[in-house]
Amino acid sequence: MKIAVLPGDGIGPEVTREALKVLDALALPQLTLFEGDVGGIAYKRHGHPLPAETLEMARAADAVLFGAVGDPECDTLPREHRPEQAILGLRSELGLFANLRPAAGFPGLEDLSPLKPELARGIDLLVVRELNGDVYFGDKGERDSAGGREGWDDMSYNEAEVRRIAHSAFRAAQKRRKKLTSVDKANVLETSRIWRETVIELAGEYPDVELDHMYVDNAAMQLVRSPGQFDVIVTGNLFGDILSDQASACVGSIGLLASASLGERTTEFGTFGLYEPIHGSAPDIAGQGKANPVAAILSLAMLLRHSLGRDADANRIERAVAASLSSEVRGADLGGSASTQEIGDAIVRHLQATA
Ligand code: ATP
Ligand code: MG
Repeated sequence: MKIAVLPGDGIGPEVTREALKVLDALALPQLTLFEGDVGGIAYKRHGHPLPAETLEMARAADAVLFGAVGDPECDTLPREHRPEQAILGLRSELGLFANLRPAAGFPGLEDLSPLKPELARGIDLLVVRELNGDVYFGDKGERDSAGGREGWDDMSYNEAEVRRIAHSAFRAAQKRRKKLTSVDKANVLETSRIWRETVIELAGEYPDVELDHMYVDNAAMQLVRSPGQFDVIVTGNLFGDILSDQASACVGSIGLLASASLGERTTEFGTFGLYEPIHGSAPDIAGQGKANPVAAILSLAMLLRHSLGRDADANRIERAVAASLSSEVRGADLGGSASTQEIGDAIVRHLQATA
């Protein structure tokens, strides 16, 4: 089993270090770690935010554990040299088209949610967002018009693109509560009409999954009104960008949530993927030991589950995180005073207690 570890910038290295401590505590046999530069640090050391050797290292691995990229000192660089290009490059070069973002309420932390505690407690959903298509990648430009400069962005999805993300979502639903909500805007968009028809066609292959459809405006409303109704949500790149942030916000802290980006490539043990916290490099708190490493540690749990086929270890990590949070070892983002390292240590202790 090979993991490429790309800690990146800002709090990326701090939170990744804690995730590696947890990995170490699992004492997995035959595990090899490779570490590479990515983001601002890679630009400074190698002149490119995604050096060829980092990309090769990621390709050769069964999974990538990613920290965060972003560096205020790089803000004035031309776009292709900015740290953020590294994650976009990794996703497209590695063919990662499915972004999975679980959002679940943590017991005892309901008051962090902007929702009523009883609603927050009921959240246990997964947003599956398509990553490689939609309006982000269509033709775009600027032209003159009677109303002055006019910007345009081409939105498109073809059946093959919809099919592969829908398969990922159906399979994810099979492993959960077997309910899939496909979100679109089929009443006005042609892309959404193709999307919906294609998802419906596939449903026959997954008779055990209950499928429903929702317009995106309604889905946004339902997410805050009764989030407990959702199990898996599948949607396109643009709607997914918005809904996944909204779902995360419903749970509470940004320092707690993990994500996976998966493609079609399988490994000896599962599906190749890249795993990262949903938060960024947080330059405002970098180097101060204030970052919450839980999102990075839960990203490691997702890595073990999806790419290395180690469900039991993933479950153990998730239980240790929950136990640590309810024993009130909490960072500043959760109103506590524990440092990054103390939170990591506490999770390792809980992990060892359940060995
Ligand atoms: P980027 O451009 O890298 O995405 P950003 O500033 O847009 O960075 P984040 O890095 O996600 O977004 O940070 C948003 C806010 O959340 C910041 O105030 C940051 O300090 C806080 N934050 C982010 N991650 C954590 C964490 N793991 N623990 C505590 N606070 C965090
Ligand atoms: Mg950000």
